[in-house]
Amino acid sequence: MTHVLKFGGTSLADAKKITFVSKIIEEKSKIKKTAVVLSAPATITNSLEKVIQLSLIKDKNYKKEIENIKNKFYTIVQDIYKNNKKFLLKKIIKKINHEILFLKNTSKNIYLLNQCSDYIFAQVISRGEILSTQIMKNILFTKGHSVKLINPVKNILAEGNILDSYVNISKSIRKIQKINFLKNSIILMPGFIAGNKKKELVLLGRNGSDYSAAILSACIKSKLCEIWTDVDGILTCDPKIVPNAKIIKKISYKNIMEISNLGAKVLHPKTIYPLEKFNIPCYIKNTFNKNFIGTKISNYKNKKIKNIYPNIAYIEDINIFIIKTLNPKNINKIYKNLLKINKKNSIILFLSINLIHIPSINVYFKEKNFKKIDFIIKNLIFNKEKIYKKKIYKKISIISIIQNKLNKKRIIQNLNQILYDLNIKTMFDLQNFSNNSISLIIKSKYQNQIINLLHEKIINNYKIIQIFLFGIGGIGKTLIKQIHREKISLKKKNIVIKICLISNSNKILFQKNGIKINTWKKKFNTITTKYLKEKFLINKIKKIIKKNNFINPSIVDCTSSNELSKKYLYFIKNKFNIITANKKFNTGNMIDYKNIRKKTYTNNKKFFYETNVGGGLPIIQTIQNLKQTGDKLISFKGILSGSLSFIFGKLEEKILFSDAIKQAKKKGLTEPDPREDLSGLDVARKLLIIAREFGYSLELKDIKIKKILPQLCNSNINIQKFLQETKNFNRYFLKKIKIAKKNCKKIKFIGKISNTGKCTVQLEEVDIKDPLYEIKNGENALSFYTKYYQPMPLVIRGYGAGKKVTASGVLSDLLKTVV
Ligand code: ADP
Ligand code: ASP
Ligand code: MG
Repeated sequence: MTHVLKFGGTSLADAKKITFVSKIIEEKSKIKKTAVVLSAPATITNSLEKVIQLSLIKDKNYKKEIENIKNKFYTIVQDIYKNNKKFLLKKIIKKINHEILFLKNTSKNIYLLNQCSDYIFAQVISRGEILSTQIMKNILFTKGHSVKLINPVKNILAEGNILDSYVNISKSIRKIQKINFLKNSIILMPGFIAGNKKKELVLLGRNGSDYSAAILSACIKSKLCEIWTDVDGILTCDPKIVPNAKIIKKISYKNIMEISNLGAKVLHPKTIYPLEKFNIPCYIKNTFNKNFIGTKISNYKNKKIKNIYPNIAYIEDINIFIIKTLNPKNINKIYKNLLKINKKNSIILFLSINLIHIPSINVYFKEKNFKKIDFIIKNLIFNKEKIYKKKIYKKISIISIIQNKLNKKRIIQNLNQILYDLNIKTMFDLQNFSNNSISLIIKSKYQNQIINLLHEKIINNYKIIQIFLFGIGGIGKTLIKQIHREKISLKKKNIVIKICLISNSNKILFQKNGIKINTWKKKFNTITTKYLKEKFLINKIKKIIKKNNFINPSIVDCTSSNELSKKYLYFIKNKFNIITANKKFNTGNMIDYKNIRKKTYTNNKKFFYETNVGGGLPIIQTIQNLKQTGDKLISFKGILSGSLSFIFGKLEEKILFSDAIKQAKKKGLTEPDPREDLSGLDVARKLLIIAREFGYSLELKDIKIKKILPQLCNSNINIQKFLQETKNFNRYFLKKIKIAKKNCKKIKFIGKISNTGKCTVQLEEVDIKDPLYEIKNGENALSFYTKYYQPMPLVIRGYGAGKKVTASGVLSDLLKTVV
């Protein structure tokens, strides 16, 4: 039983890795007969290509590039042999020098002649594979193994394009089977290389060593092919773009073919055909996590595979040529011509034809092939056909979602949602480049963001909420804590909340992919940029919004800022939802009030403000439900202030007014300056919001406030002095309570809406039958007398203030924005 192991450039990048690979080979060869295919050390092939490109444009820097290559190999072998006898190092250095000399001579000729044939090109850029095989041969040899080298130029017969050939497998099998392999020898072969009929060196295409491994597996009748690389296997997406991509443990030949054809670099698409034809299972394994099982590619029927995740692949650096003609017949001819030409060249990635409107062909190709494609199109098409127009798009990416039995409806829905939210247009309609895929053609600058979002939505199935949090006082901070605490349980429901921006009135902490919650405070404190005016801060945030695209973003306003509330309309127009605990907007002028509701609807966004009244109590949603079902308000009466509910509750317990205020302040129930609570303005705002919710067109000035305190106190005195002065009101309130008690009533601070829509805020006596009679200790109570709820009103009662309940109200609003 034989198996083939292929090690890619990433596994051979330096001496340590090469030595590590040699150990894997030794281990494996103890168990089974082992054949090994090697790539060039990482980056070497690119450097070799650069040598040619520089020589061709007469740039003497090609010499520097050769020096780099030489140094890289020198460092590798010097590190490998640092503890060994010097003659071994000398031997291998000689081999390196030989190849470097070839490189110098060849590139000098290219430089002088200004040209480089494909044969020369192939010889030059395959030097990396030749040397890495030599290095590995020496390592294994010194460890006492017998090593048999296969020369692919002589034994792997390839046809077609010199730089991207296809192997004639049956002829290659015959050649390889003639070789006499010793029983215990390890077989080594450089990948990427083959030979043509004339025994000239040809290439199997960039990244083609995978293909070499599959071919060798077929030729030596191997039972297994292992592709060793730097990732755990085939993942749901390239981990360089999506770090938390998931492993796909089993995959069919057909599916991996589509994934690699649509860009997943982890396996060259040509590799699949020989594996499938000879039914050779293939594992993708991680050299740096060698005990992990990896991905098995086999002849699976998809029913047998659990967890068939969709896969997201991408191809970047694409250019598109659009050829248009008025005559559909021409289009068909051009299409066939291009297919024919591409059979030889294989530089066109995809061709798509569109016969509706003005007939056209889109030619998709890699940027580096621009000159060749331009030449082809000019010569082969423009001279013969009447071209209407030719257009070129550059810096394009194709992102594809691939899955067997793709749920197209769901994927298209998600795709459209993402594109809508991000305000990004696809360049063309969604394409089907393969049977089980949908591809999206977009500007490359959006590529990584879209891939990540697609991965979260389609593969992780996450519903994302991105937030910009304004205000980090009690409510804001508690909200952050609650989001952190609920993270895991939300994730179980596939909801992910990302706090992208945290701001107070002068600083901004921004992290597009989400701020780490456990370190946000530290980070925030280290910010040195401060905005002197809130206006400047908001302008900065506008810039952030313009520069970035967000998915399902929400503004969360936990401030009492007027300035910020004036920007709500701007945020809505920029596709943000608004969640606000700030009452300023909803108590601003009626024109803006109506306008934002219209704009929220037309922009398909949400504007939630449940915590404007009664903290976390379900007030706004209840009113909206009543209205939706045809109910009408007759009258309303409520205790809408937690601090005043507490203070007047204490008065009933015979506590003096001045002490009750102090206690309320100590408990954190009042504003820092209790005069704000006592002014009744906050209650008036809440009452206005309730009245407007029921359809009354009122302004704040229409709410009549009867002052709590019997006389005006000097507003110029500080808080401490004011607290002292409250003693002057003790007798007044004692008397009021006494009179009320005589009539079996209690004094409460109440907001009222009469049956004519008149709104008042005042102290009032309530009797025992009134639902507000028992309300104290900071509780709120709201009684709605409506067409449906009478004579007994609908009552909502509970704590209506405090950072915990309010933050949880904000969070619950936020969760309603999940899409
Ligand atoms: P090697 O040098 O071993 O041939 P490559 O760089 O050619 O390695 O291929 C491995 C790389 O493929 C990974 O490092 C990863 O960035 C990329 N890749 C792209 N798509 C995927 C995917 N779906 N699963 C795993 N890796 C992928
Ligand atoms: N070394 C070649 C390349 O970089 C082949 C390979 O690594 O598969 O394209
Ligand atoms: Mg590769």
